[in-house]
Amino acid sequence: MADVEFETIDKIYPGGTQAVFAFSLTIADGEALALVGPSGCGKSTLLRLLAGLETPTHGVLRIGGEAVNDQSPQQRNVAMVFQDYALYPHMTVRENLEFPLKMRRLPRPDIEKQIQWAAELLSLGELLNRLPRQLSGGQRQRVAMGRALVRQPTVFLMDEPLSNLDARLRVQIRAELSELLDRLGATTVYVTHDQSEAMTLGDRVAVVDHGRLQQVAPPQELYEQPANIFVAGFIGNPPMNLLPAKITPFGETRLRLCLGEQSLPLPPSIAERWRPWLDAPLTAGIRPEHLSLTGQDSGLQAVVHDAEYLGHETLLYLRLEGSPLTAPILAARLSGIRIFHKGEAVRVTLNANYLHLFDTAGVALDHGITGQATSIRPLNHSGIPL
Ligand code: ADP
Repeated sequence: MADVEFETIDKIYPGGTQAVFAFSLTIADGEALALVGPSGCGKSTLLRLLAGLETPTHGVLRIGGEAVNDQSPQQRNVAMVFQDYALYPHMTVRENLEFPLKMRRLPRPDIEKQIQWAAELLSLGELLNRLPRQLSGGQRQRVAMGRALVRQPTVFLMDEPLSNLDARLRVQIRAELSELLDRLGATTVYVTHDQSEAMTLGDRVAVVDHGRLQQVAPPQELYEQPANIFVAGFIGNPPMNLLPAKITPFGETRLRLCLGEQSLPLPPSIAERWRPWLDAPLTAGIRPEHLSLTGQDSGLQAVVHDAEYLGHETLLYLRLEGSPLTAPILAARLSGIRIFHKGEAVRVTLNANYLHLFDTAGVALDHGITGQATSIRPLNHSGIPL
């Protein structure tokens, strides 16, 4: 096993498309890193660079401390599992597993030992004599994993390996895969566009947008302390609510957060930290679980836009009273089933302890009680850092 280092990597394709910009990231030996981002953000390019299927335009790529820019895929000893599995259809499961080992001219007893090990690890014993077409999607997926594993690669690369499975199977295999990665302790780079898959499989999650690394952090930190609006809006389902906001004085000493025509008082502990951003244009963020319904005389006035009844919870979509039609719809996560009607007036309160604050460039300024952002930047009245 080995660590992996991207050092200020740029990738410009021959046609001139730049897919990756100054990408720097170190993946520790034995770590499972999930690389997540929307379609076209450069995830596959990063994986292909690591596999040796593409070469960086600038920067250095290291595996186990050694620069591999000029090494062929074979020299790197990385194994890749693709979304379409790429199993040989005319070979049995056993032959599919043996193939990469035969290519490397491993002695017969060693091949046998490796096959037994992978078959046991992935529960493939019963399936060894079947052809791929005689397997279910999940079983095919396990064979593809086995074929990558038998080579005992230094780095394990997975490109959306679960995307061809139906939703239920995906969740089941995801859990199995998570356990397998823990047991193997293999350095793994796992590419997905599905944030929930990234959050369950990655020891850390790297969020990429437009070829640039936005944030890399353990799942909980990414959720609680998103570095910018992109990450806040990408992680979480429904994602974080993001609203234009302003902090203004209230009473003698207090501060309040204005959201359109309405406002809510800030708890003193938070208000003190937020004073530097008084009167600046900001974006406030709040997760759907930190909105709740409240009594007739308190909270913010809102109108029900829609509701989704999921059984264990209700997702309520709201529009704040007095907000323009172009204003974002707010999502609130309420436990159990609660029936609402479109157009119904409700009052909501935001738990101000869990408010996030972003500047006009979308950079996080503060995360309420979950912590201050690392970059504390006082802003002027136009929202420009002083
Ligand atoms: P993702 O895996 O996140 O969907 P990709 O890495 O496949 O993203 O693509 C990133 C960008 O690079 C896209 O704009 C894509 O069109 C472009 N791209 C990918 N492969 C090539 C290629 N071989 N030649 C030119 N452009 C490419």
